[in-house]
Amino acid sequence: MSAPDGAVALVTGGTRGIGAAIATRLRADGWGVATLGRSGGDVRADVGDPAAVDAAFAEIEARMGPILVLVNNAGERRDQLAIRMSSEQWDAVIGTNLTGSFNCTHRALGGMLRARWGRIVNISSVVAEHGNPGQANYAAAKAGLLGLTRTVAREMARKGVTCNAVTPGVIETDMTTDVADTLVDAVPAGRVGRPAEVAAAVAFLCSEDAAYVNGATLAVDGGMGA
Ligand code: NDP
Repeated sequence: MSAPDGAVALVTGGTRGIGAAIATRLRADGWGVATLGRSGGDVRADVGDPAAVDAAFAEIEARMGPILVLVNNAGERRDQLAIRMSSEQWDAVIGTNLTGSFNCTHRALGGMLRARWGRIVNISSVVAEHGNPGQANYAAAKAGLLGLTRTVAREMARKGVTCNAVTPGVIETDMTTDVADTLVDAVPAGRVGRPAEVAAAVAFLCSEDAAYVNGATLAVDGGMGA
């Protein structure tokens, strides 16, 4: 079964970086696309706040149509060694990257079940599977996201809804301007990645061709996780 007419793709954190590239690519593929961020986008909301997520979904659905593609891309990092990490640094990163993805997934599933069609793509990270000093909060959130992905995939598999993850390596965005030059030595490809390269993987997972791909983790990392 193909995506119902008028279905909308919501890209959280779609205002810049990887999310903006995903929004551009999904639009080019013919999706109606809505973006969401704390400081901009088609709707403003903090994904960590369930009431704000509920209101944002309601606004997009009223204006544009049912949200049948959800890309949980909103993310932030607040690096610190575990021994010095504050509970605020921990909570903020878990709140956006993991709880935020749950909040949006939880809100999206009802509409996807009604349509008997849906695609959820979670933007995790190469650090989910390898860890990274200074990123206990971020790595835990991104690893948790893989558990969320696999569980939702199993829960929804008979309902026409898939849930997959993408694990980018070092991608050139605002998030990595301070570290990209140092990290490039760890990339087998010898270069950082482009947001459009992550977007291409997301577009595949949202497509009809990926109907039988469920609970998968697709690395887009120039070989970093190999
Ligand atoms: P950017 O910092 O460039 O963009 C982050 C986006 O998320 C912005 O649109 C921001 O908007 C939004 N955002 C952040 N926090 C929230 C929140 N609480 N609620 C709603 N929106 C929020 O990041 P990237 O494009 O680099 O990263 C995108 C995703 O890819 C993230 O999940 C990141 O962890 C992941 N990733 C990135 C890698 C990289 O190398 N760049 C590598 C691996 C994974 P606003 O500030 O207005 O809220």
